Amino acid sequence: MRAAAFSFARVIAWLLIGLTVPGFAAAERAAPSRPATVRLAGLDYVDAAAFGARFGLTVTPAAAGRKLTLANTWHRIELEADTRDIRINGVRVFLGEPLRLAQGRLHVGRIDAEKLLTPILRPGQGEVRLPGPIRVILIDPGHGGNDPGMQNRRLGLDEKTLTLDTARRLKALLTAQGYTVVLTRADDRQLARSKAEDLQARAALVAQAKADLFISLHYNSVESGADRVSGVEVYTLTPQFQYSHSDFERADSTAGIANLGNRHDHWNSLLGYTVHRELLAGLQASDRGLKRGRLAVLRLATCPAVLVEAGFLSNDEEARKIATPAYRQQVAVSIAEAVRQYAAMLEGVRRQRTPGS
Ligand SMILES: [Zn+2]
Repeated sequence: MRAAAFSFARVIAWLLIGLTVPGFAAAERAAPSRPATVRLAGLDYVDAAAFGARFGLTVTPAAAGRKLTLANTWHRIELEADTRDIRINGVRVFLGEPLRLAQGRLHVGRIDAEKLLTPILRPGQGEVRLPGPIRVILIDPGHGGNDPGMQNRRLGLDEKTLTLDTARRLKALLTAQGYTVVLTRADDRQLARSKAEDLQARAALVAQAKADLFISLHYNSVESGADRVSGVEVYTLTPQFQYSHSDFERADSTAGIANLGNRHDHWNSLLGYTVHRELLAGLQASDRGLKRGRLAVLRLATCPAVLVEAGFLSNDEEARKIATPAYRQQVAVSIAEAVRQYAAMLEGVRRQRTPGS
């Protein structure tokens, strides 16, 4: 029943894409280099070894084909059957679909191969639109005003205060890199009365500010297991036709809809991976992974966008670190470094695509 509904949603969504994004549907049909797909558990998959070989990666199987390492001088991808949890250069990344073993060969979901792995392995590969040069960056300090966000009452910490402080630090660093930096809020306020309107107002500022990059800053919390759960996780928008990280029931009836932010799936993945890697390197925090979610601010963003959860306030040990200016400065330094690297990769692609420059 769900599969039938999904197919119908897919047809409608393809029609919508074809109508609203000129050339997109035609480009999808014409893509020449797409590897052969097989249907597994009702989804399109590609042979992981063949995918790696296309990028010149050396393929090393282990555990009777259940594990596969794809590696070259620059990248090392570690894959294992029946999980979404993979490592790219030691960094934890969650796929949208679990890897599957079929006829003794490991397979990766087609959407994961195209929209998550490809941009990290070879930015700009395929028929993806290259965003313009980064000039304006919008930083979004999560929560504010009557919405304190997550709290650690034992230590007297509010997420809204910590995100604003981190945003100011990041603004200073990115301004020094030459960018025009705008904040969704520069003081302790909400942008609208209701939570939904507040998030919409933040996303609307992306277009208003003509932002080329959107960075939403948050600190995390869990209800149970607070003493065990710590670390950093980074979110980008879930690609169309996939399910979000936490949606184990695969119950999201909106999965077939192409959101505004899905125009940037390729660059979202590269940005998210780069930000996550730099945060882990800078903070030495535990790795909760690069994840995907249909979060309002990401869904509505008109430019590549990322949402950072830079540590758990519910974990007293980590919360004490977050409470120090040094930790928040490091969060800002890591993100600023990731932006520098991301921008350099973008310009690299631009030079490749502009012969003679
Ligand atoms: Zn938050």
